[in-house]
Amino acid sequence: MTPELIIRNGTMFDGLGNPGVAADIAVEQGRIVAVGRIDSPGIREIDATGLYVSPGFIDIHSHSDFTLLVDPRAVSAVHQGVTLEVIGNCGHGCFPLVDKQLAKNTIYGITGDIALDWSTPAAYLERLEAAKPAINVLTLVPNGQLRQATVGLAERPANAEERRAMRRHLDEALEAGAHGLSTGLEYPIEMGASGEEVAALLEPIARRGLLYATHTRKRDDGALAAIEEALRTAREAGVRLQISHLLPRGGRDDCEASVELVANAREGGQDVAFDMHTRDFSLTFLHAMLPPWAMAEGLAGLPKVLSGPGNRERIHGHPSIVTSGGWGRVTLLDNDVAPEYARLDFDTIGQRMNMAPSDAALELLCRSAASPRPLMIIRPVYSEADQNLAFSHDLCMPGSDATALCPNGPLAGSAFHGAYSWAAWFYRVCVRERALLSPGAAIHKLTGQPATVLNLADRGILKQGVRADIAVFDPKGFGEAASLWQPNQIAQGMKFVLVNGVLVLDDGVNTNMRPGQVLRQGSVAG
Ligand SMILES: [Zn+2]
Repeated sequence: MTPELIIRNGTMFDGLGNPGVAADIAVEQGRIVAVGRIDSPGIREIDATGLYVSPGFIDIHSHSDFTLLVDPRAVSAVHQGVTLEVIGNCGHGCFPLVDKQLAKNTIYGITGDIALDWSTPAAYLERLEAAKPAINVLTLVPNGQLRQATVGLAERPANAEERRAMRRHLDEALEAGAHGLSTGLEYPIEMGASGEEVAALLEPIARRGLLYATHTRKRDDGALAAIEEALRTAREAGVRLQISHLLPRGGRDDCEASVELVANAREGGQDVAFDMHTRDFSLTFLHAMLPPWAMAEGLAGLPKVLSGPGNRERIHGHPSIVTSGGWGRVTLLDNDVAPEYARLDFDTIGQRMNMAPSDAALELLCRSAASPRPLMIIRPVYSEADQNLAFSHDLCMPGSDATALCPNGPLAGSAFHGAYSWAAWFYRVCVRERALLSPGAAIHKLTGQPATVLNLADRGILKQGVRADIAVFDPKGFGEAASLWQPNQIAQGMKFVLVNGVLVLDDGVNTNMRPGQVLRQGSVAG
C-alpha cells in the first residue's frame, strides 16, 4: 500500500515530553500508519529537513464558540499549528439558549453575523458540525448559560426548581457529547451561584469521569480563597479539575501562592492542573463592570436603569472584574463606538468627557447598545517573572483564552488578543527567548499534556494508529507577529498542519480545507 502522505527527514517530537528524534511519518485515511524509517514512497511527500514535527497543538482554553460559526477557517489558529480547540470555557458559550437577547452577554466574540436560532446543546453541536471547521473542536458545558437559562439575572443561588432545570440542561448537554462543565464564577451572571449549587452540577461530571474547568470566583482580592474553594469543591465532588488562567491579578505574592496551592493539592493526590493565557494583561468586556440587575434589559435598557434613584451609585459600588484595579489601569480597546477614546485609560477618558471615569464608562456602554461588537478593555497585570512562574510549572498548559479569527472575511474587523499569537508566543518566548523549557517540554504542554487532561487517547501524541493531527514548523522561525495594537497578524514559521490527515496548511499556505471534527464524548467516533 502506498501511503497518502509521508513526512520525511524531520525531527519528531512524540508529544510526551521526550526529546526529538529523526523519524518519518506516514499518513493514510486520517491516521498515522507508520513512524520511523520509511523507505517506500508516498503519494505525496513532504521534506521536513530542518523542521520539527509535532502532534497538532491543543488549545485547552478557547472561546471560539461563536466565531467558528461565523468563519470556520480558524486561520489564526491554523497558522499556529492548532488542530483542536476546547470551547465552552469560563461559563461562556452558545448553549443552552433560552432568552436569546440575554444569552448574548455570555458569548465571547459575538457579532451580528449569525442569528442565535438554536436552543439545545445538540442543536448547537450540529450547527458547529455543519459549519465544517478547519480544526477539531470539543466543548464544555458553560455554567453561565445554564444559569441564564434558569435563574436569569437574579444575583442569588438557584432555588430547588431552578437547580433541577439546570441539571436537566446539563444532562442534555452531556448526552449530546460535551466533555465537562465550566464555571465563570467571577462574572456577574454566576456571582450568585453558591458552592452547593456548583457541587450539585458536578455529580454527573464525576460519575462520567469528565472535567471541571473553573474561572474562579475572585481573581483580585480574595483570589487565593477562591482557588481554595475550587480545589475543595472539586475534591468533594470527586472530579478532575482544571483551573482556568490560574494567576490572580493581585501581584507577585498572590501568583506564587496560587501556584503553591495547586501544587500542594496535586502532591496530596488531587487530579488538578491549570492553564494560563499568554497576555500580560487581563482582557474582558466593559459591560462586565455591571451587576446583573443592571443588565436586565441589556445595554439598551441601561439609560433607564441609570435614571432610577440610587442606581448609579449602586453600580459604582459594585466590585467587578473590570474595576478592581482602579480605573486608571483600565484601557479601552479599539472600537467603533468611541474610536476617539480607544487606547486611552479611563482616568483620561473621564477627563476628556468631563466626568468621573466610572460615569464615562457607563456613558460609553449606553452609546454601545446598538453596536454589534461589545466594548472591550484591558488591564495590565502580569510581569515577566509571573509568566515564567506559570509556564515553567509542570501543571501549567498555555491556552489562547481567545476566539479563533480570520484576517479576511466576516471576522476581519474583530480582535481578541492572543488569537493570532498564543502558541507562537509561548514557543518563541519559553523555548528560544527565555529558555524556560526544552522543545520537547514546550511541545508536551501544547499536545500530550492537554490530551491527557481531556482524556483523548488518540490525539496529542505521534505514534502509529492515532489520528493524524500534525504540526510541522521551523524551530528557529516559529513565533508571533501580532502585537498589542496590531493583534490581527498571522504567526510565522508554521509550515505544514494536518487535521485528521488533511493538509490545512501546506508549506505555509492555507489550503482552505476544513476537515475538523466535533469531538463528542461518549461516542465511538469521538
Ligand atoms: Zn476566563
